[in-house]
Amino acid sequence: MAKLKKLADYKDEIDQCVKCGGCRAYCPAFAAEKHEGRVARGKIALADALLKGEVDLEEKFLLDMSQCLLCGSCYAQCPNKVHTEDIVAATRREIASRKGLSTFGKGVGAVLKNQGLMNLLAKGGGTFSKLLFKKIPEQSGLRLRFPAPFISSDRTLPPLTTKPFRERYPEIIRGDADKPTVLFFTGCGINYMYPDSGEALLKALKFMGVTVIIPKAQVCCGLPAVSAGAAKTVESLAEENLAVFQQNNYDYIVTACASCHSGLTQIYSGMGEEFDQFGAKVKDIFVFLIEQGFAEKLAELPKRKDRIKVTYHDPCHLRNHGITKEPRAILKALPQVEFIEMEAAGTCCGLGGTYSVYHYDTSKKIGAKKAGFIVESGAELVATDCPGCIMQLQDSINHAAEKQRVVHILDLVAEVLPD
Ligand code: SF4
Ligand code: SF4
Repeated sequence: MAKLKKLADYKDEIDQCVKCGGCRAYCPAFAAEKHEGRVARGKIALADALLKGEVDLEEKFLLDMSQCLLCGSCYAQCPNKVHTEDIVAATRREIASRKGLSTFGKGVGAVLKNQGLMNLLAKGGGTFSKLLFKKIPEQSGLRLRFPAPFISSDRTLPPLTTKPFRERYPEIIRGDADKPTVLFFTGCGINYMYPDSGEALLKALKFMGVTVIIPKAQVCCGLPAVSAGAAKTVESLAEENLAVFQQNNYDYIVTACASCHSGLTQIYSGMGEEFDQFGAKVKDIFVFLIEQGFAEKLAELPKRKDRIKVTYHDPCHLRNHGITKEPRAILKALPQVEFIEMEAAGTCCGLGGTYSVYHYDTSKKIGAKKAGFIVESGAELVATDCPGCIMQLQDSINHAAEKQRVVHILDLVAEVLPD
């Protein structure tokens, strides 16, 4: 049985925090609110106090624990490599076990565990959002009024698809016999909101002769439930995915979503040996493509005269795993792209799973800062490798009434490949 770690299992790691404050300058929640309870050492001290029975689950404690994007920026800068994001997530599970899940947490659990319900909601939402989007000029910067519970009315969202990505393809698409076979873990973002990016991935893998397995039975990695503290949901989704991974033969599992990559590796690690075995096979799509010599093939294409200025946003969940060079290498090799590095490319976009639902105002402040760096870079497009970041960055740019579009790197890759 898949079992997430309990807060008590982090006791030694909690003790590793020496309260040096080195992480303070890198915490987006602290930068937005300038409050000690927002920063890593404050949260670690609170988690420690909860374990020792020195604090109750009073309102202030709950608020401080909810004010974390689980971005891991603190971990990246911590001399002792303390995973505050994991400690905060475990604290949220502890809170849920004592107090029960919030209404939103219960909703997350109910939807994520029911694939049929997710498909139904997406299809209904797809039909509805088509009607809604007709009224909104694509580049207007207008606020989309999206009357869904828990979602702020001034948030811009991508339209949902009426036909989820996994319903569009057979479970196996054969490539060349001498090339690797990959299992494509699509994630919910690509399945329901950005299916074109999934199609772009298939185009790139076809170009490289790779065989692709797209199991229909795969489910959400569980990351939204981690953020909500819904332990049982995460564990049951992990079990379902494990069964899917065990039923197929492949060389690698590829993801085109930073959050899914983190879910399948960091979140599932420690759930048991079998999880670690398949975790070792998980590769971000750009890491895989670089290993297959894809950048060299792109570099053979003649460079275009009127290249478009593109910058890159590092999703936290890739940056924390040291995946920063590969997406940039692909972008730089594209014949239609003039790559521009923006300032603070590695800072969080402000989404943070349930964070942007509970704290949309702070999330917007963090996003506004990022939008400023994007505009200053002079780029026309922002490319990234995470559907969640695409959604948040576009929302931030729209709020700033700027014109930049946010795309998945795969969308740019597909433009230059043959059908
Ligand atoms: S995970 Fe991110 S938001 Fe949370 S304390 Fe660390 S840097 Fe701050
Ligand atoms: S989490 Fe790391 S960087 Fe932050 S105060 Fe603790 S030891 Fe220092």
